[in-house]
Amino acid sequence: MENKKEKLKELEVEMEVDVSLPLRESNLVFGEGNIDLEVMFIGEGPGFYEDKARRPFVGRAGQLLDKLIAGIGWKREDVYITNIIKRRPPGNRDPLPEEIESYKPYLARQIEIIDPKIIVALGRFAMNYFLPTAKISRDNGKIFRLGKRCIMPLFHPAAALRSTQVLEELRKAFSKLPEKIKECESLPAEPEEKEPEVQKSLF
Ligand code: URA
Repeated sequence: MENKKEKLKELEVEMEVDVSLPLRESNLVFGEGNIDLEVMFIGEGPGFYEDKARRPFVGRAGQLLDKLIAGIGWKREDVYITNIIKRRPPGNRDPLPEEIESYKPYLARQIEIIDPKIIVALGRFAMNYFLPTAKISRDNGKIFRLGKRCIMPLFHPAAALRSTQVLEELRKAFSKLPEKIKECESLPAEPEEKEPEVQKSLF
């Protein structure tokens, strides 16, 4: 356990000093929470308040996320929360594909260290990071097996702040999270990496 904590600290320091990473004019928002439980929430990227506090999901979207978590009887401290990109894009614009790509090796290592059973992907950027062909309006609240983990895409809380219909759908899907974790356990584990297709001989 201590080992996990140390490895995460090392990773954070590595990111802090990596001058090749984009958006270095803003603060590193690495992530926080329980590293020994099974659920990891991954959002898009830090916003204004997250950049200031160097903590993920502390603005209005974060407050809604906290309420949703409390609504199923959990605490924010029970889960781990981070983002696909770890620094705020100027003006809160969408992350660029090359930014997501640059942070990818770090996020991959962060997930490996924490080793969650289920990743809740908040919004389409986080969802498409894991499930490139998924659609948030269709797949909000569904569960997908990916290697040894499950991915559950959910509407981004910021989208729910803009639409009562999205908020309702997000609430409904969120309330199913505990049962979806159980469902994940019963889904057959797929191999982490598919064997490359054997090229058929022309002869
Ligand atoms: N939106 C996100 O995607 N992440 C945060 O940390 C805050 C807002």
